[in-house]
Amino acid sequence: MTITFDPDKLPGAHALAYLQSKLRDVPDFPKPGILFKDITPLLADPRALHITIDLLAERFIGERIDLVVGIESRGFIFGGAVATRLNAGFVPVRKLGKLPWKTDRLTYALEYGEAELEMHVDSIPKGARVLVVDDVLATGGTASAAAELARRQGGVVAAFAFVVELDFLAGRSRLDSENTQPAVYSLVHVGG
Ligand code: AMP
Repeated sequence: MTITFDPDKLPGAHALAYLQSKLRDVPDFPKPGILFKDITPLLADPRALHITIDLLAERFIGERIDLVVGIESRGFIFGGAVATRLNAGFVPVRKLGKLPWKTDRLTYALEYGEAELEMHVDSIPKGARVLVVDDVLATGGTASAAAELARRQGGVVAAFAFVVELDFLAGRSRLDSENTQPAVYSLVHVGG
């Protein structure tokens, strides 16, 4: 007997369609021309939240992730939950001036202007395998800066994980082009 699978009927395809249905598009936020992907309906829906965390974590079971680095602020929500699923620790990367201890900081370019991110200096042991988590991958500047902070402490960035990837901004190519070629994994892809 031959068993065939229709990809559209696989549970995974249904799950991703469900997640997609829980993302809200907000035009012109925070500035004109930006289509903001609002994840709060997904967070408020128990099934969508559960599926999101399960799918993000499942991809990295067996990948020996020691630490999840979550990017302020929405990366904390997903990163913290994924860390507990992977039996990994959690390290916050925060905007300037929020972390209480000694920090390393990095200035990076945004689409318009600059931003600064910080990480506590003693948060990543040498050789620790790191997964960088955020809600949305846009141009990749933010995730790339978080990865650089982790590497400066001797961490090995094994992978990046996002709930949503804006394919048309090509952030993936920016992360892929980094030295160690980490995996980039996103649940929902948004075309141009
Ligand atoms: P980037 O550095 O361009 O990849 O931007 C990523 C950061 O900005 C993430 O922390 C996202 O939460 C946020 N972000 C950028 N663009 C969007 C968007 N269109 N919708 C929602 N969040 C966004």
